[in-house]
Amino acid sequence: MELSSRHIPERESIIELRQKIMRWYRNNARCYPWRKTNDPFRILIAEMMLQRTKANQVVSVYKEFFTNFNSPESVSNSAGGKIEKILKPLGSRWRAKNFKKVSHVLLHTFGGKVPDNREELKILPGVGDYVAGMVLSIALCKREWAVDSNVVRFFRRYFGISTSKDGRRDAHVTKMAKIYSFSKNPGRANMALIDFTGTICLPQKPLCNSCNLRRKCDYFKKNDNQESKSKVINRKSLVRNIKGGKEYV
Ligand code: SF4
Repeated sequence: MELSSRHIPERESIIELRQKIMRWYRNNARCYPWRKTNDPFRILIAEMMLQRTKANQVVSVYKEFFTNFNSPESVSNSAGGKIEKILKPLGSRWRAKNFKKVSHVLLHTFGGKVPDNREELKILPGVGDYVAGMVLSIALCKREWAVDSNVVRFFRRYFGISTSKDGRRDAHVTKMAKIYSFSKNPGRANMALIDFTGTICLPQKPLCNSCNLRRKCDYFKKNDNQESKSKVINRKSLVRNIKGGKEYV
């Protein structure tokens, strides 16, 4: 399955991959409050909170936020400093500003509703392709793709493809993510991919030995071969050393 170029793998391989990841997700889904709702506004706010932030940090802030606000209108009309105070544990002032701006645009441009397409969602300040894809697929069950840096690394490893430095914007990565998310339950498929790449196929030390994809994973096959080779080499040198009467250290 080696693909050193930017060509995408066969459709069937991507579909098979999705099926395996969704099987893994059945027993390993992470449980967060924003996963217990279909409300597009809540999911939008949660995804904006999750940007550059660990999910566990977001849980209490999310709960506090929706104890105080329940609509774009209530956010847009909030008293000065209240949102900043709630978001303080997440540590970024730009987020509070964006929440107010987003709520204002929702209210005045989209009648208080979260848009149901990528182009309009991306008009909202701070909303890019990833957040738009997650909101559309989870809240509205649209077959929309979502790619973050974890997903890029995973595609690179599993399929042995190459990507640019900012692979999230590579056309071939987007094509793969589109095929991946073209599922009966795209929101669940995308959440499964995010959880898998965030807990198993980790950046530094991927947990290959606990991974149900390793048999077909390009990265695993290459590294496994290298490990086997080094074991063979070590074995040979051990035999040489014994024959030569040297001590084995
Ligand atoms: S085998 Fe390892 S590198 Fe391959 S997908 Fe699984 S965790 Fe990632």
